[in-house]
Amino acid sequence: MDSVRKLIRDIPDFPKKGIIFKDITPVLGDPTTMAAITGAFEKEIEGFKPQRIVGIEARGFIFGAVLAHQMKLPFSPIRKPGKLPYQTVKIGYKLEYGEGTLEMHTDGVLKGERVVVIDDLLATGGTAKAACDLVEKLGGKVAGIAFVVELGFLGGRKLLEGRKVIALTKY
Ligand code: AMP
Repeated sequence: MDSVRKLIRDIPDFPKKGIIFKDITPVLGDPTTMAAITGAFEKEIEGFKPQRIVGIEARGFIFGAVLAHQMKLPFSPIRKPGKLPYQTVKIGYKLEYGEGTLEMHTDGVLKGERVVVIDDLLATGGTAKAACDLVEKLGGKVAGIAFVVELGFLGGRKLLEGRKVIALTKY
């Protein structure tokens, strides 16, 4: 995953002071690296026997939908509040400062279904944990969680303890 590291762009102080934002948009512009990412994801998660891919808004949609297409699996979105038109389940979670909410359609996961959750980046783990809790609220089983990037120094894996977590590149 050297090409991923080379393409990711550090943007200091975005969206606020003190945060170094890992900009993955150059990765999206490189089809060879995108194919390497989805290939690596598929290899890592096929053992989890997923029946559905769930992607977290917004960059999790990009990697998740491409992976779902490649693996011929259904895809469901987890979104920020007020965006999904049908009946939803919601979950509140803690952000670094303040609170966030995530939503999913009530038919976004079937009971007993094995789900892999995808996002671009694992930071403190709050977002991914909330996504897993939503899947479980609907009766799904979280078979694994996969990220393109992990900011290991933030210790997000602790919040996801007991779950199968994959990250293709670590900082
Ligand atoms: P967290 O809940 O702290 O693990 O944050 C993960 C979510 O916030 C992911 O959806 C990321 O896209 C985004 N995020 C958090 N920190 C960064 C960062 N330094 N660079 C890019 N995205 C980030």
